[in-house]
Amino acid sequence: MADTIFAKIIRREVPADIVYEDDTVLAFRDITPQAPVHIVIIPKKPIVNLLDTEPGDTLLLGQLLATAVHVARTLGLDKTGFRVVVNAGPDGGQSVDHLHLHLLGGRPLNWPPG
Ligand code: AMP
Repeated sequence: MADTIFAKIIRREVPADIVYEDDTVLAFRDITPQAPVHIVIIPKKPIVNLLDTEPGDTLLLGQLLATAVHVARTLGLDKTGFRVVVNAGPDGGQSVDHLHLHLLGGRPLNWPPG
């Protein structure tokens, strides 16, 4: 797997506004926020996207979602609601080839997405 900007953030080679970290997961504010709250949640394990996951990653996938819920509560989004998005591949709009969840909130979000 090629090196990515997110791998550099994990290694602290690139700064990020980190809102949560544990042994397996890192969450930080998106540099180009699409909503008042826009958090990127990533596994520290290098995984390209959902298609690159294996059966052994099931727990990790759950940890990523649980982190989204935890961060949503921490930032007050449990009061108003939020959205979790995972882009995969070109048609999914994935621009960074390191698996990540987007946690979006702080305003009403349109549906369907563009
Ligand atoms: P995606 O288009 O789903 O691959 O999302 C990648 C996201 O990473 C985009 O929303 C970018 O704004 C965000 N991003 C890229 N570089 C950085 C960075 N250095 N710090 C924080 N977020 C970033």
